[in-house]
Amino acid sequence: MSSITKTNTYYDVPEQEVGAIFATDLQQGLTPEEVANRYETYGYNELEAKAGKPQWLKFLLQFNQPLLYILIIAGTIKAFLASWTNAWVIWGVTLINAIIGYVQEAKAEDAINSLSKSVTTEATVFREGQKIRLPSRDLVPGDVVQLVSGDKVPADVRLFEIRNLQVDESALTGESVPVQKALDILPSDTPLADRKNMSYAGTFVTFGQGMGVVVATAKDTEVGKISQSMEKSVNLMTPLTRKFAQFSNILLYIILGLASFTFFVGLGRGESFANMFEAAVALAVSAIPEGLPAVVTITLAIGVNRMAARNAIIRKLPAVETLGGATVICSDKTGTLTENQMTVQQIYAGQETYHVTGGGYSSKGEILRGDDIVEDLPFSLQECLMCGLLCNDSRLKTKDKYKIVIGDPTEGALITVASKAGYNQAHFNNTFPRLDSIPFESDYQYMATLHDTSEHHPETPRIIYVKGSVEKMLERCTQAYDLQGQIIELDRTLILDQVETMASQGLRVLAFARKVAPDHQHSIDHEDLEENLIFIGLQGMIDPPRAEAIAAVHACQSAGIQVKMITGDHISTASAIAHRLGINKDGNLLSFEGKQIAKMEPHEQEQAVIDGSVFARVAPEQKLQLVEILQSQGDVVAMTGDGVNDAPALKQAQIGIAMGKAGTDVARESSDMLLTDDNFASIEAAVEEGRTVYQNLRKAISFLLPVNGGESMTILISALLALELPILSLQVLWLNMINSVTMTVPLAFEPKSPDTMKRPPRDPNEGLLSGNLLKRVLAISVFNWILIFGMFEWAQSFYGDMDNTLAIARTMAIQALVLARIIYLISVSELGNSLIRKLKGDNISLGNLSAISYGILGAIVLQIVFSQVPFMNSLFRTAPLNLNQWLICLIPVLPMIPVAILVNKFFPPHLSQVKK
Ligand code: ADP
Ligand code: MG
Repeated sequence: MSSITKTNTYYDVPEQEVGAIFATDLQQGLTPEEVANRYETYGYNELEAKAGKPQWLKFLLQFNQPLLYILIIAGTIKAFLASWTNAWVIWGVTLINAIIGYVQEAKAEDAINSLSKSVTTEATVFREGQKIRLPSRDLVPGDVVQLVSGDKVPADVRLFEIRNLQVDESALTGESVPVQKALDILPSDTPLADRKNMSYAGTFVTFGQGMGVVVATAKDTEVGKISQSMEKSVNLMTPLTRKFAQFSNILLYIILGLASFTFFVGLGRGESFANMFEAAVALAVSAIPEGLPAVVTITLAIGVNRMAARNAIIRKLPAVETLGGATVICSDKTGTLTENQMTVQQIYAGQETYHVTGGGYSSKGEILRGDDIVEDLPFSLQECLMCGLLCNDSRLKTKDKYKIVIGDPTEGALITVASKAGYNQAHFNNTFPRLDSIPFESDYQYMATLHDTSEHHPETPRIIYVKGSVEKMLERCTQAYDLQGQIIELDRTLILDQVETMASQGLRVLAFARKVAPDHQHSIDHEDLEENLIFIGLQGMIDPPRAEAIAAVHACQSAGIQVKMITGDHISTASAIAHRLGINKDGNLLSFEGKQIAKMEPHEQEQAVIDGSVFARVAPEQKLQLVEILQSQGDVVAMTGDGVNDAPALKQAQIGIAMGKAGTDVARESSDMLLTDDNFASIEAAVEEGRTVYQNLRKAISFLLPVNGGESMTILISALLALELPILSLQVLWLNMINSVTMTVPLAFEPKSPDTMKRPPRDPNEGLLSGNLLKRVLAISVFNWILIFGMFEWAQSFYGDMDNTLAIARTMAIQALVLARIIYLISVSELGNSLIRKLKGDNISLGNLSAISYGILGAIVLQIVFSQVPFMNSLFRTAPLNLNQWLICLIPVLPMIPVAILVNKFFPPHLSQVKK
């Protein structure tokens, strides 16, 4: 092994030395000039994704489908039989098919790739003493970064300050247990997994915080070194495409069986080899739905784009189709169902209640006692505001004349209310400098800060301020301040009553407490907060439900999808908000607390999870349990999550949803879908699009397959009865490829139908090709068979004395089939739906339906070319039709109208509904 030089290991030297190597001040960070310099040397902190499979391979893989093998082999045998036109057309079609598939796949991959690029990870960096958030790609070696739980480590860093820092390094080392970091200097031969004072790019902080200096970026990082062997490719497989693959395999055997059966029966009867081979090929070709794979990919890709347009970014393609089948949506409250625009409205301190006026983060507003403005703030009120102001990791910033929060809106509200009393955050942060802090974490439900108050209160030079959930605060307090600051016995019942009053109005209640610390204390830990806090007061803030969320909850419920609220907040607050949002189950609003559920017997838990609509004070592990219980009931679960510990629940849910704005990197990386606006309404929109995707796929299938069915029946029966074939193999290819694709692809663009969200979710156990869909395919197949066979036999006998009788009869059969097909297409599409509603007098526009209209128009033009252009006549053995013959081809269109109407009535294209 080569010896390691000092300049590329950083765990075996003191941190100051690392700072010196990178010419960085560990407290201040780099200067902008220095950063600009370093970009030139080191470039951006991003890994160039190694290209996936080469393009030519992707193209060749398009031929790797059993059904295409048949086509290729059929073409080859035709070539041996010297039917060169036949051979070339068959190969040509295979090629076109591969090109279409290749282009569509490339587009779908691009769509997903560019969407995932639009989601960047950010890092917290110190530059010139300022703490800022930057895209991770903007980091350079020497940058000082902060890591907090939930972050993805943005580069390789040497740690120099940590607090309980734990990092999940499984991506790098394979070790699934998070590593507890430590600052000790290590020997130079320490293996990667044991370098406790380092943190590596691509790993995740699962707990605590830390500060570090960046020592390597981009390809110089440990992950950069190994990523050459990783390839970044998008998986386009979904449960549906997998089912199609299975379906094609079964179809393959049926086709091979039937074709050889026909072939040998014919030979046995003494037919010529060439004739029977043509029949066998025609049969095989007719049964293969060549256009189907392309339509599936296009439909899924369009779904991805439509969802993105409605703020839902798909990270994993299968989510597009699973979304449409969701039966339960478990959603966060704060920020997803509510505005996350917090305003403190009530304060309770020193057994006195105050009301606060004003809205948003503006300092306009008053603190009132009864109807009077409070002029001289009593001690308890002062301290309550001060605690909210100092024990605070957020700040307000003016942007376009409005105040916005940098950080947590809950904390923004606390700064705002303090400013209404004239308290300025920066001023008090200087007066009472912060020595240490324990940031808020959902698991603990509190935050604490230690302040140096020696200058202004020499008698108590150290004070700890704590804020958090009422439960966690009351556990730690035995005493309280009265109005003027005398210490009195804590009256829990009184406070809990007050909390109940505030929370039942939907207010989010935070409790505040403080503690005098020993004179020289300079750091704090969770142990320092276990007892002897002195209760100061409560602040209650409103966080109004989002108006769109109210509508979206309603839409979900009428679509048979249950909405459950999962929150870390107080049960009464959560229930009050749920009530305003209209969240309930069959009219009942049942709420449970996490600890209540934890105490239940398994069968009670199950019942609670099924019946409950609100789950409050839920611990992240319980989210996983919730998902599992719902899934055991056969539910398809969509679950939102934003915290570090939400990852298992997000992975377990069929659709894991993370927030694009709030939320941690950990949650994002575990999700199937991201919401760019963090809004519940976007989940509902995505479900709607997901249902449309599924519906459109069903439409495409119910449109495509009957033609295959009709053709196969025709050829099979005619060949077995030793009749002339009504359509030849090349003509079948024309129908299945050119004609089918022109008319089916527009179905992928179909708008959603008006009742998309009025029906219950589809039955998750039902396959795509079952129930009504199958009956429909069979019925139309039989109709098509009668049509092709009837038209051919009729024309053959009617025009029996001409030298191109067979060509005319075949052409007429095909044209009649296509014309009837147009009617059928209209009947399955939204165009048909809208036309019927228009006929009934509904005032609706026919906009949005252009795709289908173009498809129909295109198909008509192509059919005219097919029979009227001499070149096509020789290629496809068709014959030009005269006006009379064209008109006759229109006749079968008439019975198609009632047939389509009957089929729509008896075998509606709807999905079967979930049975519960
Ligand atoms: P949710 O986001 O679902 O409301 P959280 O886990 O964020 O749940 O919060 C749980 C509880 O922790 C809240 O009800 C509140 O009492 C308390 N809390 C929330 N944010 C803070 C914060 N920044 N500092 C202290 N306590 C907080
Ligand atoms: Mg929160």
